[in-house]
Amino acid sequence: MIRTDIDFERPGTQHGVLRVPYSHNLAGWANIMIPITTIARGEGPTVLVLGGNHGDEYQGQIAIMKLARALSDQKVHGRLILIASLNFPAALASTRLSPVDGMNLNRAFPGSADGTVTSQIAHYLTHELFPIADAVIDIHSGGRSMEFIPCAHMHVVPDRDQRRAMLGAMMAWNTNFCFLYTDIAGSGLLPVEAENQGKTVITTELGGGEGIPASVHRIAYHGLQNVLRHLGVLAGQPHSRESLGLPPPIITQALDAQNYLLAPESGIFEVAVDLGARVSAGEPLGYIHDLERPDREPNTIASPRDGFMIAARAPCKTQQGDCVAVIGEEVSVDAVMQLP
Ligand code: ZN
Repeated sequence: MIRTDIDFERPGTQHGVLRVPYSHNLAGWANIMIPITTIARGEGPTVLVLGGNHGDEYQGQIAIMKLARALSDQKVHGRLILIASLNFPAALASTRLSPVDGMNLNRAFPGSADGTVTSQIAHYLTHELFPIADAVIDIHSGGRSMEFIPCAHMHVVPDRDQRRAMLGAMMAWNTNFCFLYTDIAGSGLLPVEAENQGKTVITTELGGGEGIPASVHRIAYHGLQNVLRHLGVLAGQPHSRESLGLPPPIITQALDAQNYLLAPESGIFEVAVDLGARVSAGEPLGYIHDLERPDREPNTIASPRDGFMIAARAPCKTQQGDCVAVIGEEVSVDAVMQLP
């Protein structure tokens, strides 16, 4: 049901919209118009770059808008498809979930052609955009709920060639940390659908919380361009961390549900460890305080194992079951390739 005036086969730069039918109380015949840019020239890979899968994560949305304005097709070898704010209604509302149907786009795949707005967006990607892409970049952060040490991340996909390609692309972001994650909260994720279609999928968690430091905007913009050079769609040699005078990245994994610490009770979360810090098994990562019982000792959240503090809850106010901390264990590239 989604239509567009973009001709994906046409060279040059096109700025247009994806039109999603949306009939509501104040407009019977209406479209949600999701901005999209294509930049194409000659032979080369097709790379789909997505921001705003969750509306309250602006790092990627800003980097993609900047790139769409700045990039001349003279620098492109192949085709770039840029969608800054994929869940456009959520981005306008600054919410994780869509305000028009309450859905989480990152749990809506493979989607439905005659479903709600969010289901239709997922279906369009699954059936129209993923099939024409060689690589899919989906830029996330922790939004309003979590703050991550800025990192590129990935699933450990079973196909070894795909895994190796994703590892290389993840590391081309040049973040200090890389992170291998597993899905502890539901299915229907965008990257999983793209992975199942055999694509090289690059995802990130670039900070989080409501304020974004300038350094994180730089990681988003420079990292994105470096990955595009690594994939060969953008002219120029990619920078290695070594060429930038940086040490190798710390690659971490959290492939066990135990690494994702959920609040055992509601309260006010006090984080006790800085993001990126090394922690030991049993070390307190934070405390949950009860405003109604200041006389009572807070509930201690302890690290399940040795590792690094990869993410922490952003707002202090916490409900039982919210994720308050994520621990990643250090792992080598060789060990990642050995994983089942
Ligand atoms: Zn997200």
